[in-house]
Amino acid sequence: MRSRFFWRLYITYFSLVVLTAAAIGVLTDRQFREELGVRVEQQLIRESAALVPASRTLLASGDVAGAQALVTEVGSRTRTRITLVLPDGAVLADSSEAPENMDNHRDRPEVVEALRTGVGIEQRFSETTQTARLYVANSVTVAGQAVGVVRTSVTLADIRTQIATMRARVAQGASLGILFALGIGLFVARRVMAPIAEMSTVSESLRQGDYAARVRLDRADEIGVLGKNLNQLGAELSQRVSGLGRQQAQLRAFLGAMQEGVVAIDPQDRVVFSNAMGRRLLHLDPGVHELDMTQMPSGLLDVLAEVRAMGTRAHSEIIQSIDDEEIILDARGAPFTADDDSGVVLVLYDITNMRRLERIRTDFVANVSHELKTPLTSIQGYVETLLDGAIHDDEYNTRFLEKTHLQVRRLTLLVADLLSLARIESTSFRTESEPIDLREIIMESAAYRHDPLRAKKLDLDLDLPDQPLLIDGESEGLRQVVDNLLDNAMNYTAKKGSIRVQLRSDGYDGVLRIEDTGIGIPEDALARIFERFYRVDKGRSRELGGTGLGLSIVRNIVQRMQGTVAVESEVGVGTVFTVTLPRADQPVVISDPAPLA
Ligand code: ADP
Repeated sequence: MRSRFFWRLYITYFSLVVLTAAAIGVLTDRQFREELGVRVEQQLIRESAALVPASRTLLASGDVAGAQALVTEVGSRTRTRITLVLPDGAVLADSSEAPENMDNHRDRPEVVEALRTGVGIEQRFSETTQTARLYVANSVTVAGQAVGVVRTSVTLADIRTQIATMRARVAQGASLGILFALGIGLFVARRVMAPIAEMSTVSESLRQGDYAARVRLDRADEIGVLGKNLNQLGAELSQRVSGLGRQQAQLRAFLGAMQEGVVAIDPQDRVVFSNAMGRRLLHLDPGVHELDMTQMPSGLLDVLAEVRAMGTRAHSEIIQSIDDEEIILDARGAPFTADDDSGVVLVLYDITNMRRLERIRTDFVANVSHELKTPLTSIQGYVETLLDGAIHDDEYNTRFLEKTHLQVRRLTLLVADLLSLARIESTSFRTESEPIDLREIIMESAAYRHDPLRAKKLDLDLDLPDQPLLIDGESEGLRQVVDNLLDNAMNYTAKKGSIRVQLRSDGYDGVLRIEDTGIGIPEDALARIFERFYRVDKGRSRELGGTGLGLSIVRNIVQRMQGTVAVESEVGVGTVFTVTLPRADQPVVISDPAPLA
């Protein structure tokens, strides 16, 4: 199907050709008619003038027979009607009609005119012959006296036929000309249209995002320049769009990788932009573009309202439930304007961990103060009592001093454990690691506890490998792990119980199991025993000289050495602690690359 532009062009051209042909036809027709009329008229004038001398005597004498013979002979020769009229209007002779059948011609305009001026010309309908005719009349005079009129006439039908023939020829010629012109027009229009159509297609493709579309034109004229410019435009567009796309992809990647949730909201509460974390934190499904304000935490609504009302930044802490877990979010809002868009950018940051750590720190300080206060209060009490005079009382002074000593020992243990924790948490702890034989540490620790084990009649079974088992760690730390676990096993196992220490190599790890037949740990306490200062039975632990820090020190050290510690226990049956630590002599492991997200 050809384009509208093609048809418009072609129809204009067509109209122009037809109008020109019509104008030429009309002008030619008029010119021809005029020329034909003049020619016929001139001929009639000549013929009638030529007849004047011959008809003079006939008219003057009123010779009807001679006159009739003349008009018949000349009329048939020249195919012209000839009439001889007397000055009174009576027809003397006529080449096509009997004079007696004819009217008096005194009033015929051409006759009147001829008698008056010498020549009369008239075009009119002839009642006699019933045709339109052209008449030319010449007056015939003898010595200045009119003796009659010679009138010649032809029918106009002949002229009309000639005109019709001429018109038919002109129409034929014009039609041929028009056809020819239209053919040429079609060819030219096609030549003009083809590149325009191609450029139109290419520009449409560019508009629809096919930036590789190009015009194939090799012309030096204006259309060629237009095509070249279009191609240039396409190339620049494709470059800019790919640049923009790259920038946008980078921006999306940056925002996607951010830990902070970013959500931009327009004044109609529609989401203009959001990164993955933002959608997760606000529970926005991928297809949703409108915020359901009834589902938003009230703190967030306050931030939005404040930014919108004041046009300044605002922030608040909100609680949001994610995966059935309550998390604390720091929600910050700021106004934004970009071109036609404006609204509020919300940046959401999960500060649950930060808040938890803050709480742990405050709890820790409170716990440490409390732990320090108890022995210090006791010491103060005993010392004051001694100073108040009990120092002279032999029954109490030694007991009070012993109790004071006990509290001082407890304080020392507490401070030692706190120092251990501080040391483990310092950065230098990990850097000091070296291969250490865990077997040796276990044997030393066990040997050191020989007497207390005997005193409590506890049976210690050491199940150790024959070869050294090297752990990449810090000797003091590893010693603390074994000591604390062994001390706990001894402390929380009743007399005559048994303790089994087993060390095995399990692939790349060394696995240490310390099992006792002690009092066990209630299930609800299992998850908490690694917390600082947590003790199942405070009084009992304190009596045994515990600080509540042993297991938290163990877990800290093990984690720092890239290991794990686990516990299984049953109240009244016993407890097993399992420590897994990476071996120092393990083969180099090339871990699988992380799967692409
Ligand atoms: P503590 O100095 O009180 O022993 P820990 O951090 O070493 O502190 O242990 C925390 C608590 O875990 C202990 O108070 C005790 O209640 C419990 N516990 C630890 N080891 C054992 C064990 N082997 N058997 C039973 N209970 C244990």
